[in-house]
Amino acid sequence: MSTESFDVIIVGGGMGGLNLAALLTKAGKRVLVLEKSGREGLGGRAASGRTHDSAIDNGIKGLILAGSQDEIFRRIGKEMPENVCRWTNSGKVFMGGAWKDIDGLVRGSLAEFAKVYMTTAKDWTYEQIEELDDVSIEQFVQERTNDENVIDFFRYLGWLFGGTLPIPTDYSAGMLFYSVKKQLDTLGEFPSKSYWVKGGSGAIAGPLVESIEENGGEIRTGTSVSRIVVEKGRVVGVEVDTGRPRVPTEFVDAEILEAPVVVSAVAIWDIFNILNEDDLSPWYADRLRHLHRKTLNDATVTYGHSDPSLWDHTGPRWVQQGPHTGRPWCASSLEYSDDTSKYEATFWIQTGWWEKPDIFRIKEASHKAALRKLFDDWDREIEEFFPGIVSKAEWKLRSFGPATLIETPGNVGRNLIDIRAEGVDGLYLIGERTSAAKVMGVYGSAQVAIAAASMILGE
Ligand SMILES: Cc1cc2nc3c(=O)[nH]c(=O)nc-3n(C[C@H](O)[C@H](O)[C@H](O)COP(=O)(O)OP(=O)(O)OC[C@H]3O[C@@H](n4cnc5c(N)ncnc54)[C@H](O)[C@@H]3O)c2cc1C
Repeated sequence: MSTESFDVIIVGGGMGGLNLAALLTKAGKRVLVLEKSGREGLGGRAASGRTHDSAIDNGIKGLILAGSQDEIFRRIGKEMPENVCRWTNSGKVFMGGAWKDIDGLVRGSLAEFAKVYMTTAKDWTYEQIEELDDVSIEQFVQERTNDENVIDFFRYLGWLFGGTLPIPTDYSAGMLFYSVKKQLDTLGEFPSKSYWVKGGSGAIAGPLVESIEENGGEIRTGTSVSRIVVEKGRVVGVEVDTGRPRVPTEFVDAEILEAPVVVSAVAIWDIFNILNEDDLSPWYADRLRHLHRKTLNDATVTYGHSDPSLWDHTGPRWVQQGPHTGRPWCASSLEYSDDTSKYEATFWIQTGWWEKPDIFRIKEASHKAALRKLFDDWDREIEEFFPGIVSKAEWKLRSFGPATLIETPGNVGRNLIDIRAEGVDGLYLIGERTSAAKVMGVYGSAQVAIAAASMILGE
């Protein structure tokens, strides 16, 4: 066994790992990032692929603008890639058998809407908003108004923030208002526009990788960490496999890479692949175990076309209950991020860890069959709502994977784990999702990276 040593080893080259590595290398730390996929996989779940001469994303359709990713780029002196989103979030929602303008939902109820939505986001402190973490948005709005339009608007927000949760109104009001307030504070306006990246969402990883390498950091791709090594309550490094098994059951030899600080930037649902839960304090391990597979799994289908008339490009569409799938789903469309004569329309449905198809059991035939049926029923449904999108598509891409952990009361805020792993000195967990994340998705990863950098640098 050989050994090498670093100031900090980061396991995982997704947005969380890259953001943190960029901040730490900029501050002069000797950092090693280990990523199991190839270089094209840097960016993790936010990485983009290519098809028909254009970028396609791993399901991501609009980053939540919360200021934290911008803050990291500012600190490392890099430019954010261009935002190619032209429309605002004011799309249409199919509720009660008819399409309704989202803006129109509250047009006749502005005073009541302002009282419930704007006042909370503008006038409440972050601490007061945190008190709403374990309150669902349905409960929040029902306690404050009888106005059906405002209640419907909050149900739409449940879809927007909770994705297409089967029970969207279960979304945490604290999480919702934290995000809205954060965008208001950093952008100076209420959220109305998402951030769609020129070159695909994976283009955000490029300047981070550049910065890490310019500042002396090292990124090893194609390197899978098999274990985080802990001795006497202190992290000492990681073990990486050296070579591939030559027979199916070979136990391959490992190399130890040493560091006094190790950061796991793998998703929480992968954590027990590399960390022995007996090393953690029992409370922390229980919490992690409770959360680690409470995933929302995104089924996504994207169609490529070159006929702009197949879609009106004015914003997203939200369908409360599809006639064949029986599920809520969302849709959005965009000019291709690097070819404005072509278009993509992406549709997504969230399934939960409690039902079929389950991403962690997808190798089982019954789960594969459930996923196939979902996609096939959905195709019929999409064609009925948007004639031509399916039948005239030049290409189609289907995907299924964990998007995030559920953000319902009891599973957010103080119920989440701290970044600092209790019971193991020098170990930090920044994978989705820790209490410092607050906002969802890529911006949540950025927010956690900022918090972890400040702990590690002892600021
Ligand atoms: C379909 C879909 C749609 C989404 N839509 C949006 C959206 O619209 N807006 C938004 O902001 N966010 C969205 N997200 C969420 C967003 O992609 C994630 O929140 C974010 O990318 C998480 O980054 P991360 O670094 O925490 O985790 P990851 O990206 O999962 O990174 C973890 C990395 O660790 C690596 N790894 C795992 N195990 C090992 C190991 N043993 N050794 C070495 N490396 C390892 C993995 O290969 C991966 O690269 C979506 C996600 C999906 C899947």
